[in-house]
Amino acid sequence: MQTRPDRLLPRRAALGTFLAAGVSPLILASCGTQPQNPPPGTTAPPGPALPRPETPEDALRRIQEGNQRFVAGTPLHPNQTLELRQQLAGNQQPFAAILGCSDSRTSPELAMDAGIGDLFVCRVAGNIATPSDTASLLYAQAVLGTDVVLVLGHDNCGAVKAAIDVADGKTPPGEFAPLTDPIQPAVAEARRTGATGETLLHEAVAANVRLVVASLPTMSAGLAQAMQTDKLTIHGGVLTLSTGKIDLVS
Ligand SMILES: [Zn+2]
Repeated sequence: MQTRPDRLLPRRAALGTFLAAGVSPLILASCGTQPQNPPPGTTAPPGPALPRPETPEDALRRIQEGNQRFVAGTPLHPNQTLELRQQLAGNQQPFAAILGCSDSRTSPELAMDAGIGDLFVCRVAGNIATPSDTASLLYAQAVLGTDVVLVLGHDNCGAVKAAIDVADGKTPPGEFAPLTDPIQPAVAEARRTGATGETLLHEAVAANVRLVVASLPTMSAGLAQAMQTDKLTIHGGVLTLSTGKIDLVS
């Protein structure tokens, strides 16, 4: 496989249900200080160069250490020099692949304090395992040598909330069915715990992550084989929006 998957272009989608998650309006007005952009022709102070983790265990540890820095508000902004950008232009070897939600508050590079070439990221509302996302994750492992996959959900997920509303008959799925239908098994699993309201949403988010983690090796024989030969581990995590903390789920 010589060609690389096309870069996914950002698109503005109908917001509708997915803005029901309590997003505060962005405040773009000046707060009295100007951004500290470097003058033209100069570079911003680079973060440190962090070596690529060599094992799935080290890769997961790097994710967790980066998240700890993000939570503490002390990011290193590693691997972001102009020199590295040029070095990586012809090749990439990301240590982790992320299947995350499209939610604007859950950027993996920010939440894991990662740099250029570190993460191979697939994002779709509800972090569901579509065939194309699954194939992308396999590409990351089989072609780029990625050591770990992290399925990343988050609290207060609008896609999961929409799936619950559909299950409750409050709203028809309509054109959102390709997103809400795959989450229905997680909603059913969460409902079996007896949870309701916000707790149901919390449980459904975690269940959705667990089910997606479990589904990936069943959807891809290549991913399953990589796991069996200890070349790949697949984990699930839930990011808490208010703190930025990623907790692994099992
Ligand atoms: Zn979400």
